[in-house]
Amino acid sequence: MGYYYDLWDDFISLLFPRICYGCGNHLMRNENLICTECYVSIPRTNYHLKADNPAARLFWGRCMVERVAAFSFYTRDSRIRKLIHQLKYKGVRQVGFELGRIYALSLRESRFLDGMDLIIPVPLHPSRKRKRGFNQSEMISCGISDVTGLTVDTTSLIRTNVTKTQTKKSRYDRWTNVEGIFKVTESDKLKDKHILLVDDVITTGSTLEACTNELLKIENVKVSVAVLAFSVI
Ligand SMILES: [Zn+2]
Repeated sequence: MGYYYDLWDDFISLLFPRICYGCGNHLMRNENLICTECYVSIPRTNYHLKADNPAARLFWGRCMVERVAAFSFYTRDSRIRKLIHQLKYKGVRQVGFELGRIYALSLRESRFLDGMDLIIPVPLHPSRKRKRGFNQSEMISCGISDVTGLTVDTTSLIRTNVTKTQTKKSRYDRWTNVEGIFKVTESDKLKDKHILLVDDVITTGSTLEACTNELLKIENVKVSVAVLAFSVI
């Protein structure tokens, strides 16, 4: 049965080759969305192993976050950049889920997630979500949840205004651009909780800072941050 199944599988992949979203090469039978070469070449930051790290320092003197981690460095020609591009602009939501799963395995092993109660993906404005069809941070969160069992909460924190694209803005402009645009809808649900905020890429940290400041208004709340990529562009 296995033999014929494999033959059939090979025949199908001849007709419909499965392609790696990082490099475009054909995937082997045991690979899923991302080939082994891309997987091992992801430039991991390992920030989850060190409390004092460059991503955590972005928040110093700005807002109180417990722990900050980033899966990979985001560089101009890194494969993680291609993968995130597939997720955000080509609509390949499974890539977000898979990267979330891969990252969660490291996070869980390092005990970074110890004491955390739930995951909140950074909300996308509803009109942008409608246009894209999904929130990429939610896909990453679902991957993390799949490994850890932590619940993903997409309703307690919402985005209220459309923001213009953040590229080519100074740090100050970016900050004023996001200040006050997030709103907590159900503070009772989040009271006494340690929340893991999840986003795709961190650049200045201003969006995550705005979310954190809003969440910290809730009684006895703690916030930690995990992102897929730390931008060094
Ligand atoms: Zn690849």
